[in-house]
Amino acid sequence: MTFQDLNLNTPLYNAIDDLGFKNPTPIQAEAFNIVASGKDVVGIAQTGTGKTFAYMMPILRHLKYSRQDNPRVLILVPTRELVVQVVDEIEKLSKYINNRVLGVYGGTNINTQKQAVAQGQDIIVATPGRLYDLAVSRVLQLKSIQKLVIDEVDIMLDLGFRHQLTNIFDILPERRQNVMFSATMTKDVDELITDFFIDPAKIQIAVSGTPLENIKQQRYNVPNFNTKVNLLEHLLQNEDEFSRVLIFVGYKKMADRLFDILDKIFPGQTCVIHSNKTQNYRLRSIEQFREGAHRLLVATDVMARGLDIDNVTHVINFDTPDYPENYMHRIGRTGRAEKEGLAILLSSEREQESRLRIEALMQQEIETLTIPDAVEISTELIEEERPQIKERNNPIKRKQEDLSGPAFHEKKDKNKKTNLRGSYKREIAKKYKKPKTRGDKNYNKRNKKRR
Ligand code: AMP
Repeated sequence: MTFQDLNLNTPLYNAIDDLGFKNPTPIQAEAFNIVASGKDVVGIAQTGTGKTFAYMMPILRHLKYSRQDNPRVLILVPTRELVVQVVDEIEKLSKYINNRVLGVYGGTNINTQKQAVAQGQDIIVATPGRLYDLAVSRVLQLKSIQKLVIDEVDIMLDLGFRHQLTNIFDILPERRQNVMFSATMTKDVDELITDFFIDPAKIQIAVSGTPLENIKQQRYNVPNFNTKVNLLEHLLQNEDEFSRVLIFVGYKKMADRLFDILDKIFPGQTCVIHSNKTQNYRLRSIEQFREGAHRLLVATDVMARGLDIDNVTHVINFDTPDYPENYMHRIGRTGRAEKEGLAILLSSEREQESRLRIEALMQQEIETLTIPDAVEISTELIEEERPQIKERNNPIKRKQEDLSGPAFHEKKDKNKKTNLRGSYKREIAKKYKKPKTRGDKNYNKRNKKRR
């Protein structure tokens, strides 16, 4: 199928031509007529499949020029980054169309956004919280909304936006078209559809768990964090091949920790993004990565969901996600728009179960590579990897083999000192023949009773 087969108009053809797109992607081909028909639509598509254009092409095709101030199209997305990105895509597609598009999201000055809304808009792209605030303030009138698009609804529900979504549905006109896109089908998504959609048409291109064909996958069994760092360093030394690398970790603390380490090994080449970073910091990180100023971006799952960055050469799963869907999302950041991409998965012993779940979802095994000889296998464990000691007062606290080795980093001087806390108290108690703290007192009492 070509773009000529879609019922586009000249301004849209020209814009697409300028973008250099040759053919519609499968989701675009399938969605066009259904979305254009005005029916409610549910699309299951992974990011990177061209789904933004899949709903925007038919919407823009039928959006008439209007002078009215109230917006007629509302697009809800889960993250601020996605707002910026979707606005950008719409602007590209609207190059030869005279329409007004505004992106609004939380964490920034609401008054500036109120002023922009008051100037009159055709399309609003928003995160649910800020959209609701603007609507409640009555500056943003939703009574003319004809089309509602909810993109990445699975992540939206994951982030706890269900309540806001329901509130927004309540203030939208009843007669409207609902279009929804989700990368995965979950119970929550299903419920939302049943509650708010009228007999929706379903479009499903790749079933959840089907990786894009142009993503090559490989994996390594790596015993621990420090060895993962060593392997990562080894791989990333190949700057020509690993020229734009997204490195995923499961949580924020780990993202910061890995960023600190990589920034020392590859100074000035690394940036980081997670939801505790400020809006400006995140946008700057993405920009630096997108422009190529930094070739390595460390990211957590949720933050990276909305990222649309082309030519990501590698996705490295520094840890193995518990939810196989997250793996699908992570690797979907490479191999975008028919480019080749390589996804690498690192799994420790305790992550093997998660790895098996991923392979079960995809119904395929990931090619296993052996760690190159040049990579040092570390036996030093980080705090999270060490066995947990629950009995604080147990004198036989750790077995010899559980004891930690020297730290991975050279310790700072102040951290090199031996911790004297316990022994100091004991010495004082011995000297004065009585305990000096409540803790010791109780301990002695207990011991007395036992005797
Ligand atoms: P999306 O899945 O909407 O995040 O889009 C992924 C990327 O593919 C975006 O950078 C789009 O600009 C690009 N794209 C969208 N449609 C096409 C197309 N028909 N041909 C090539 N690239 C496309």
